[in-house]
Amino acid sequence: ESFDELDLSPVMRRAVAEAGFTKPSPIQGALIPHALDGKDVIGQARTGTGKTAAFSIPILEQLDSLEDCRDPQAIVIVPTRELADQVASEAERLARGVPTEIAVLSGGKNMNRQLRQLENGVQMVVGTPGRVHDHLKRGTLRTHKVWCVVLDEADRMLDIGFRPQIERIMRQCPRSRQTLLLSATLPPVVRRLAESYMHEPIVIDC
Ligand code: AMP
Repeated sequence: ESFDELDLSPVMRRAVAEAGFTKPSPIQGALIPHALDGKDVIGQARTGTGKTAAFSIPILEQLDSLEDCRDPQAIVIVPTRELADQVASEAERLARGVPTEIAVLSGGKNMNRQLRQLENGVQMVVGTPGRVHDHLKRGTLRTHKVWCVVLDEADRMLDIGFRPQIERIMRQCPRSRQTLLLSATLPPVVRRLAESYMHEPIVIDC
C-alpha cells in the first residue's frame, strides 16, 4: 500500500514524502480513510506505530484556513507536556506548504504566550488535560467550532487521573464533532469513556 491510495491532497502527499514516509504504517492505512470519512475511531496503537501522523493527516487535510475560521477546529489531548510538544512538531512538519496555526496548551508553557496565540487565532490545539481545561474555565479557549477531538494515549491519561478534565472538555465540544481515540490498551475505563463520548466508533487494532 502507498500514500497514493489514501486520497490525500497533492500538498499533503508532498509533505508526507518530505517527512521521509514512503508507505503508510498499518494504523495510518486503517485509520486515515475512516477519519477522512468523518467516522469516530478507536485505534489500539502504541508509540512508534505512526499514530501521531494517523490522526494529524486527516485533521490537517480538513482544516479551514485561518481567514475562514479563527477559532480552534481540532483539539488533541495528550497525557504529558513532552508528548504535546512532539505531537505539535510532527503536525507542523506535516502541515508544510499550508500556513497552519497550531497552539500547544500545556502546563510547561507560558500562559501569556498561550493567551496571545489564542487571541490571534488558531486552527488546531495540542494540549494536556489540565491546561486545556484551565483555558475552558477562563473562557480563553472557544470550542464552538471544534469538529474533531483526539484523545491520544487515552489509557495513560486515565491512569494519571485526568478523567474529570477529559469529560468536561468532551462535554463542552459540539455533539456533532468527530472523536478519535488512541490507546495502547483498551481496559474497561477506556471503553466506558468511549461509550459515553463517541458515536458508533470503528475499532482498529494495529
Ligand atoms: P509515533 O508512533 O506517532 O510516535 O511515530 C513514531 C515515528 O515514526 C515518528 O518519528 C514518525 O515521524 C515516524 N513515522 C510515522 N509515520 C511514518 C511512516 N509512514 N513512515 C515512516 N516513518 C513514519
